[in-house]
Amino acid sequence: MQRKRRGSPVSKNDISFRDRPINLDESGSRKWVYAKKPKGPWYRRRTVFSWIMLLFFIAVPFIRINGNPFVLLDIAGRKFILFGAIFWAQDTLILALLMLSFVLFIILFTVTFGRLWCGWACPQTIFLEMVFRKIEYLIEGDYRKRNALDRGPWTREKILKKATKNGIFILISVAMTSTFLLWFIGSEKWFQLISEPIGENLTSFTIMLVVSAFFYWVYGWFREQICTMVCPYGRMQGVLLDSRSIVVSYDYKRGEPRGPKTEGDCIDCRQCISVCPTAIDIRNGTQLECSNCTACIDQCNSVMKATKKDPGLIRFDSEKGIQQGHQSIWTPRNRAYSMVLLILFSFFLYTLFTRPVIETTILRTPGLLYQNNPGGSISNVYNIKIVNKTHEVLPLEIRLLSHEGQITMAGTKMEIADQDRFESTFILYIHEDLLTGDNTELEFGIFSNNELIESYKSSFIGP
Ligand code: SF4
Ligand code: SF4
Repeated sequence: MQRKRRGSPVSKNDISFRDRPINLDESGSRKWVYAKKPKGPWYRRRTVFSWIMLLFFIAVPFIRINGNPFVLLDIAGRKFILFGAIFWAQDTLILALLMLSFVLFIILFTVTFGRLWCGWACPQTIFLEMVFRKIEYLIEGDYRKRNALDRGPWTREKILKKATKNGIFILISVAMTSTFLLWFIGSEKWFQLISEPIGENLTSFTIMLVVSAFFYWVYGWFREQICTMVCPYGRMQGVLLDSRSIVVSYDYKRGEPRGPKTEGDCIDCRQCISVCPTAIDIRNGTQLECSNCTACIDQCNSVMKATKKDPGLIRFDSEKGIQQGHQSIWTPRNRAYSMVLLILFSFFLYTLFTRPVIETTILRTPGLLYQNNPGGSISNVYNIKIVNKTHEVLPLEIRLLSHEGQITMAGTKMEIADQDRFESTFILYIHEDLLTGDNTELEFGIFSNNELIESYKSSFIGP
């Protein structure tokens, strides 16, 4: 199917660029992208930003707030720690609000600034462009040398270069997996894991090997196809972007008609394509493969400088901006999204700051009925779970508020460490005269230092 893209000035002869993904040939086989090494002010800015992001990625698991990790995604323990605050399974609503706010923020950001996230902050791009590709440039050289090396025979030099590059890729993949693991198990467990013999943690070790192999495959071979074929976010650009979104754009009004001796500023040198990590021609208009990495801006600006023309033939701009010569990012659509985001985030903050200090669940032990005891008392067995969301050790006590009765805890003292969980069992005795039927509603109170901090309704079964 042939489609003309928005803002595309391409002629009838060259609109075949959308017939198939740019990195596939007619037979559907992969065409390897040999992108030219970018250079220029935008690339320098992106490099600095990437190092900050990488540092953040490595440092976060070691940062602690009030003794808790800054971020911990403990799926096995069913708890998340974000900004030092623990969220348990009971806090699903708060987490859902946070996730919704985040998704809406990404949408708002994309509507306004396009795929800036992809080119600048996405871990896939950062690791591929700023780590793996830089190592490749260093060992195998720039695009022409890499192309020649791949096409050439297996000489001693080629074997050495490929072995060195892939060896380093494997080491980095393992290091990446270890760092990812830190986010999920925390630094303490991580140090324990690596200091123990492999045989004692065979499952974890196997998972690490599989994930490392996956990273090596992604960064060594699959590469830009994650962004162009797999990532769902990239595929949403068609619905998120509009004519006022600011994206990496080619100024076709200024550039066309293109050619070395035409009045348009584009000399058709195709340097912007050679530097593009997804091998697209930005002059064909906004395309889903464009990650807004800005490599083509730098490249075209250097061409403009060499041809003594003004920079910015490719620049951050919107379609409206190119057409009308001015930008306006504060559109009705942005305003509507911002309003919804504000409401959602305010609701998240409200639920976060008003969440109870403890979260109690009391349920009758499944499979057990009541028991008749001497003196006319009936007993039920309960399971109790309490989550302490404060940063203090809480001495707790459970009392029956709705009836007279006696509670016998299963041995343990009810004291919960800060941000911890307590689980136990207790037996409740109530005299049969106080029961209102075979299923009596009752209410428990959780006290700390004689102060009621939470009540919980449950039921009691009798004869
Ligand atoms: S780098 Fe600039 S001048 Fe060269 S083809 Fe691309 S847009 Fe035209
Ligand atoms: S078109 Fe330009 S900004 Fe988009 S991915 Fe290619 S080089 Fe990066």
